[in-house]
Amino acid sequence: MDRVILGGRVMDPDSNLDAIANIGILDGRIAIITGQSIRGRDTIDASGLVVAPGFIDLHDHGQTPEIYRYRSLDGVTTTFELEVGTSDVDAWYRARSAGARINYGVSIGHIKVRMSVMRDSGTFLPVGDGAYGDASAEQLAEIVKLMEIGLSQGAVSIGAGFPYTPAATRDEQLAVFRLAAMSKTPVHLHCRPTVAGLTEELSLVDETDAPLQVVHINSSNLAETPAALAMINDARARGHDVTAEAYPYAAGMTEIQSATILDVYRDAPDELLGRIEWPKTGERLNRESFDRCREIGGPIVVHDNTEEMVATALTSPLTMIASDSYWQNGAGHPRTTGTYSRVLGLYVRERKSLSLMEAIRKMTLIPAQRLEARVPAMKQKGRLQVGADADITIFDAARVLDRSTYREPTLAPVGIEHVIVNGVSVVANGRAVEGVTPGMAVRASRSAMVA
Ligand SMILES: [Zn+2]
Repeated sequence: MDRVILGGRVMDPDSNLDAIANIGILDGRIAIITGQSIRGRDTIDASGLVVAPGFIDLHDHGQTPEIYRYRSLDGVTTTFELEVGTSDVDAWYRARSAGARINYGVSIGHIKVRMSVMRDSGTFLPVGDGAYGDASAEQLAEIVKLMEIGLSQGAVSIGAGFPYTPAATRDEQLAVFRLAAMSKTPVHLHCRPTVAGLTEELSLVDETDAPLQVVHINSSNLAETPAALAMINDARARGHDVTAEAYPYAAGMTEIQSATILDVYRDAPDELLGRIEWPKTGERLNRESFDRCREIGGPIVVHDNTEEMVATALTSPLTMIASDSYWQNGAGHPRTTGTYSRVLGLYVRERKSLSLMEAIRKMTLIPAQRLEARVPAMKQKGRLQVGADADITIFDAARVLDRSTYREPTLAPVGIEHVIVNGVSVVANGRAVEGVTPGMAVRASRSAMVA
């Protein structure tokens, strides 16, 4: 064995194994799980700790070495940018080919492709014609063609967010969903807010039978989260492949100049604007400061949900955990650094809203299964089984907890002791191991391209 992990509580959400066992790793894969004693060139003592599959995040906008490091400290071994995605799949993977700390993958993003075709000047999200410009027939054909190319280059899924592209007509939306249905690729969609918005999005599923992942159902639906979950249940009962994800925070974050914010807050009264926090100073905004900050541009914190609705979303059997990690120019949301430790510490240990196995399943197996049809490599992730990739997160269930806050989003959690990616430690004894890049690209197989 290259390495052995001895005496930990090994938890596999696929087989429901939950027992003290030893794990042997050979050539980046799990070679043995046994109650017998084993030896390797390197030993991790996991006694008193939980040994789980590495956490898989389907919604991460922080795809840089700096953020990969934060994510690894929170137990994440594979991370994806699937909602906004990219307009150039080959270039996106090429930019990371020198090596990354954790495994990574991307979608072909309708938002990004539309920004490119409509020549939008925004950096992350559209601010001009990408959001507000009507696409001509030629431009729509170009959008579809570029998305097909993205799929042919191995995009993991299709990303979209119609609140960010309000000028996208229903025909344009249908074109995205038809492409998804034809290629059996899930659309990771930022839905229009509230039940009214979700009703429109689900009508696209009824019409095309495209697979759909409803991203951050907590922040899209707020007080209507229970109704939204019921609608997803109904869509599944009609035979559709619809799933959802949630993150464990009652405030969201996005760009102040994006259409989602301007549509709600452009002419809003002070009492509504008070929900918005300018993270650089922590101040709550009013009419005057909103307009001033809008000129500056950048991320804002939006305090618009309740703990009760967050818990409802997280504990539903329909949801998986995904962080929606967000970071720009040194400012970001604490979910970037604390999502997984917060679920394990606050919702599992302190509030007992979820069992430990159920939480692990929502962080590992369910996200892996969401991608498997198009990305067979995901069948080797999200499980602790012989033959699976040695992506492993080892934590202290009695101590694990997030520490990051809206004012101090960089604080690493406590209790995540060891994180292993393809057999290599990226976190050891609770500290980041510097200078290691065992992460690999996760991409759709060539046979999974457009039909
Ligand atoms: Zn997002």
